[in-house]
Amino acid sequence: MTEPVLTIEGVSKRFGAVEAARGVTLDLRPGEIHALIGPNGAGKSTLIGLTAGTIAPDAGRVALAGRDVTALDAVGRARSGLGRTFQISSLAMEHSVLQNAVLGALGRSGRVMRLFGNVMRDRDLTERAAAALERVGLADQARRRVADLSHGQRRQLEVAVALTLEPKAFLMDEPMAGLGAEGTASLTAFLDTLRGEAPILLVEHDMDAVFALADRISVLVYGQVIATGTADDIRRDPAVREAYLGE
Ligand code: ADP
Ligand code: MG
Repeated sequence: MTEPVLTIEGVSKRFGAVEAARGVTLDLRPGEIHALIGPNGAGKSTLIGLTAGTIAPDAGRVALAGRDVTALDAVGRARSGLGRTFQISSLAMEHSVLQNAVLGALGRSGRVMRLFGNVMRDRDLTERAAAALERVGLADQARRRVADLSHGQRRQLEVAVALTLEPKAFLMDEPMAGLGAEGTASLTAFLDTLRGEAPILLVEHDMDAVFALADRISVLVYGQVIATGTADDIRRDPAVREAYLGE
């Protein structure tokens, strides 16, 4: 069997009385989209944060491309090749599309630049940012302010920012949220091609998108993975039907 690109092993996190993650173990294999579904409050965003390094775990480990990254913070993990998009936008609204993409690319560069002007003159960074915008279809929007973009374009830009890091694996928290039918269809088609570059751990509420894209699905309920399998396995699983589909 091929080695997983990303391994999450026995990860736990408690917020006061809430056990948001209870010994979660899952992995991401080359070329796959692994969807993480579950009711609101199940701990999906927490698991993304624990994996990305923005939330410190109480227990467990995370490995990327065979390397234990548990001790690294979010910036260290991003530089190691973990790309992510957020449930709530992290874009700088008053800056341009290109500037946001450059800021994303800067996260991996390891160089600290004091003035934004210097950053914008850095050819390598701007070329990488422009290439990422091209890939998500935002090249012609590069000079616009993020505040003036449509919701769908902002979602595309979030993906472009993650792409500038040339990640080995992607973490995406509800990328389809708030998109209309057209936006969902075009993002679905894009993620389908993106998986060839790096596998995706995809938190998504849109079940049509999940069933269209996911090679495997894990179901999270009260911080615990209650089932992992193909779409057919998940549809048939009695525990999933009871706990999640409400049957
Ligand atoms: P999901 O993304 O599946 O909707 P979350 O991971 O956002 O779920 O939340 C899981 C549980 O952890 C919820 O009960 C939520 O209220 C709680 N929680 C998440 N983040 C925090 C936090 N920073 N402080 C306290 N409780 C939190
Ligand atoms: Mg969430």
